[in-house]
Amino acid sequence: MSDYSHILVTVDLTEECRTVAERAASLAKMYNAKLSCIHVIEPLSLAYGGDIPMDLSTIQEQIQDTAQSHLSEFSQSMGIASENQHLVFGRPEVEIHTLAEQMEVDLIVVGSHGRHGLALLLGSTANGVLHGAICDVLAVRVGNK
Ligand code: AMP
Repeated sequence: MSDYSHILVTVDLTEECRTVAERAASLAKMYNAKLSCIHVIEPLSLAYGGDIPMDLSTIQEQIQDTAQSHLSEFSQSMGIASENQHLVFGRPEVEIHTLAEQMEVDLIVVGSHGRHGLALLLGSTANGVLHGAICDVLAVRVGNK
């Protein structure tokens, strides 16, 4: 197996993302690879469409500011340089694939809740990232074991 040279860790900014990022950081150290991170903000307009007849831009800006400061703080604590931190808008799996391709990432690290049931073997984002990825994907088990 060839070494990884660029690892992308996907962070949802919940308490669990530290477990996922720590695994990515230790792999980056082991392979002497570059480590980048991404957090995707789902635009409120995507979630609610035209259902809510009000201007959501102020709330969206507040969400962006909060996400930016949490991502910077979290990434710094993981030793990820600011130029390797990516905050983008859209659907998580789509944006994760796009950035991974643009940056020639060779490993994406994602959290997986290991939910029970036939359809829920992987968390939905983990499932989405796995399907269609053109590089390796590591699903790190998080949540209730
Ligand atoms: P979920 O499908 O929501 O259970 O999330 C599983 C994993 O997908 C998380 O642990 C993260 O690694 C990744 N993920 C979920 N949402 C996002 C997001 N908005 N931005 C980046 N990564 C995410």
